[in-house]
Amino acid sequence: MKVLALKFENYRNLDDAIITPCDGVNVIYGDNAQGKTNLLEAFWMFCGGHSFRGSKDNELIGFGKPFAKLEVRFFGQDREQTASIKFKGNKKQVEINSVAKNSAAALIEKYCAVVFSPEHLNLIKRGPSERRKFIDSAICREKLKNAVVLSKYNRTLNQRNSLLKDIYRHPELEETLSIWDNSLLLNGAILIKQRMEYLQMLEKRAAEYHFGISGGKEQLEIRYLSTTNAEYGDSIEQIHQKLCETFEQSRADDIRNGCTTKGAHRDDAEILINGKNARLYASQGQQRSAVLSLKLAEAAVLSERMGEKPIILLDDVMSELDSKRQDFLLNKLDDCQVFITCCEQSNKEQLKHGKIFNVCNGVIS
Ligand code: ATP
Ligand code: MG
Repeated sequence: MKVLALKFENYRNLDDAIITPCDGVNVIYGDNAQGKTNLLEAFWMFCGGHSFRGSKDNELIGFGKPFAKLEVRFFGQDREQTASIKFKGNKKQVEINSVAKNSAAALIEKYCAVVFSPEHLNLIKRGPSERRKFIDSAICREKLKNAVVLSKYNRTLNQRNSLLKDIYRHPELEETLSIWDNSLLLNGAILIKQRMEYLQMLEKRAAEYHFGISGGKEQLEIRYLSTTNAEYGDSIEQIHQKLCETFEQSRADDIRNGCTTKGAHRDDAEILINGKNARLYASQGQQRSAVLSLKLAEAAVLSERMGEKPIILLDDVMSELDSKRQDFLLNKLDDCQVFITCCEQSNKEQLKHGKIFNVCNGVIS
């Protein structure tokens, strides 16, 4: 997929304009607080209509303006297409190829992008929930069925947890626990299987990117850490069996703690660089390179599944990386359309082929 042109009107601090990126690497350059991330966010908004910064719709409208509008012309699914989103108050009006749509979710099937922003470093720096969220959102994006499984799992987990709290006070309720166990075990087994399959695909691509970014010096690995001893290669039935055994063994603990202590919602993925846990031992630059590799791998897996290469949006990626690692990002990713924001003059000069957009006080040149 390639963006051919993006038009914005009253969008954040950006002056109204139409920009035409190149097919390869586009560098968005400027000092702090000029509008670089705002521009990158505008490219992302067509992936379902939500900001990657968690902003509300009305925060996207330029101060004092009545609405904001973004229009994109892109090449995808072997043809030129258009889409637009108008933000007014907290409402969105979406059109795809001049046909009005009820929801911005309709854009997801048409337009695909992967974004890296500095908050994604939490994928390594923080606890397991960040990594589960990353994997779960990727598998849900791949198949709608996975989103249904995940939502059933979470719903049943909440119900089981509230029952566990009641059992503590009313032990006679224990026999009703199995009502929730059946659904939790079944959906849990499917979820774990999907996560493991996804991680195996992701690891292969991420390791290649990380090897490239680190100049052939570092080996990246990802391991699924299961609280139920599930292993790569296990069938859904085998995982289900292991989950049943774990639940049986941890039932007393669950009742004592008033929550489900083991299962898919407690699993983690360990990210290793040269055999060592990246959260504990990797340097800032290594952690950044690893997260970037995961994001680029996410794009590669998505492109194999969808038959379409997503656009890659990299916000503030250059800081903490040495010039060799920066060079990889600027000059070795040219098989897809990339947008990179940066503040350093030297990054602009490092770019061998591509297009540079200067952003100054919302004006793009
Ligand atoms: P940095 O290098 O520090 O990341 P940046 O160029 O990425 O800077 P942006 O995050 O794009 O900066 O923000 C640029 C400016 O846009 C900010 O100063 C912010 O106050 C302003 N801004 C944010 N939302 C709006 C809005 N709705 N209307 C007008 N201006 C806004
Ligand atoms: Mg920024």
